[in-house]
Parts: sequence; C-alpha cells; structure tokens
Amino acid sequence: MLNPDSELLLDIVDLHASVEDSEILKGVNLQVRSGEIHAIMGRNGSGKSTLSKVLAGHPAYKVTSGSVVYRGIDLLELEPEERARIGVFLSFQYPVEIPGVNNLEFLRVATNARRVECGHEEMDHFEFEDLVRERIKVVQMDPAFLERSINEGFSGGEKKRNEILQMALLEPIVAILDETDSGLDIDALRIVASGVNQLANPQNSTLLITHYQRLLELIIPDYIHVMAAGRILKTGGRELAVELEKTGYDWVDRELALQGQA
Ligand code: ADP
Ligand code: MG
Repeated sequence: MLNPDSELLLDIVDLHASVEDSEILKGVNLQVRSGEIHAIMGRNGSGKSTLSKVLAGHPAYKVTSGSVVYRGIDLLELEPEERARIGVFLSFQYPVEIPGVNNLEFLRVATNARRVECGHEEMDHFEFEDLVRERIKVVQMDPAFLERSINEGFSGGEKKRNEILQMALLEPIVAILDETDSGLDIDALRIVASGVNQLANPQNSTLLITHYQRLLELIIPDYIHVMAAGRILKTGGRELAVELEKTGYDWVDRELALQGQA
C-alpha cells in the first residue's frame, strides 16, 4: 500500500541493471525525502539516463538486483503508466514527437488519470482548458502549442517547456528531469528552471540529472551526487558543483582505480 505520509519518497538500494546483457548500473544507492532537490552529475556514459529510465520502467532496461521503494511500495513491480499515475514523473533527455496526437487532449487524459488516482474528479474539456491556461503561465508557453501534435516540430526549448507544463498539470511527487538543460539557450533555460522552482514544494522532490553546472546556479539542489561507472561515487552539498567546475572529473578515474573498478 502506498504510504501517503512517508517522508522517504524514494529508497534505491544496491540497484543493478543491464541493457542487452551488459551491466550498466552497478549498485546505485540513493534516498530522496520530501522537500528535497537532488542533482545527479557525472560524465557522459556514467549511467545517469539509464538510472532515470529504470525508475520510469523502460522495458529495454532489466533490473538484475537491488530494490526501489517509492513511498512504501515496490516501484519495480509496477507498469510504467502505473508509476506515472502514482506520481513518478520522468522528463526524457530526448522527448518524442507523436504526430497525430493532439497535445491538449493528451495532457487532459494524462491529468485525469492522475487526478482519479489522487481521489479527485475527472475534468471535462472546459474545466481542463481553464486549468491549462493557468498552468501554462509557469512555462510562459504560447497556448497555440496546445493545438498541435505532441512535440511535432517543436524546438528543443519548446519540447522542454511542454514537459514542464506536463509536470505542472500532473503534480508528481518525484520528478526526474534528465538533462533538462541540453540544447537550451539561456532564456529557455531560465524559464524551465523557474518552472521547476515554482513546482518544488515541501511534499514533493526533484531529481535533476545534468552535467552542466550552470543549471545548478538556477535550481539550487540540497544534494549533489556524482555518478561514475554505474554507481554514485561521491555525494555532497551544493558546494560540490563549484568544486567540480574547477576540478572536472579527472579525480573520478583515480577514485575508481583506487576502488579497483576502473
Ligand atoms: P549518461 O546518461 O550518464 O550519459 P547512459 O545511461 O545514457 O549515460 O549510458 C550509460 C552506458 O550505457 C553507456 O555506455 C551507453 O552506451 C550504455 N547504454 C545505455 N542505453 C543503452 C542501450 N539502449 N543499448 C546499449 N547500450 C546502452
Ligand atoms: Mg544521459
């Protein structure tokens, strides 16, 4: 049973996962409590996107051992859409375009599924339009994008805003944002960061995956984790981002060699 009072929102213990028979995650441990913002940094190929896809339930990624408990229930047992319904949200590094599916209608169906899960009434078209018009302000998006097919022909920045709009409507408890900053110009980055900051509250949590320090000047994390070779190698406070900016990731290889993992 989902425990709505659990302060521990996400408890990842010794998580191992493979894709096409090669092990990518090699023992990830991470605890996320309500009200926290965590950043996961690390070089390309360290396993950041794999972690987010495993949490979302992507079928190509097989969990071989370890556990993920979300507010008292085994997340790994659930289908991807169930995970979304109970409040786990993933913003992909590369959002897909879905031609022929109207953005507004998609948002309404997804929002209603989440509302029913939370014990609220479904919204009809009129009620939903009112809600969208209010929430769209969070991302300063042109309402014309609502009438188009999902992400079709959207620029990188528009896709990201659309994802933050989804988040504003779904009100997830754990939001996982994978490289929300990649390919964004500084204005789009500011809008997306401001959206994330407006949506963060004491009841929810954000897992921000990024390898750019500049995003962490706009969204201030409580914890920063450095991933390397499929594990979390180091955890610190926001000062770790400044340190990484200076030192880069060269120390990662030394650390891995010391641990016999390189
Ligand atoms: P990051 O997001 O930190 O850059 P990824 O999780 O995307 O890292 O990738 C980690 C490793 O897993 C890389 O070596 C990558 O090539 C491999 N990998 C990820 N997804 C797949 C896949 N679908 N098929 C094969 N290899 C994959
Ligand atoms: Mg990635």
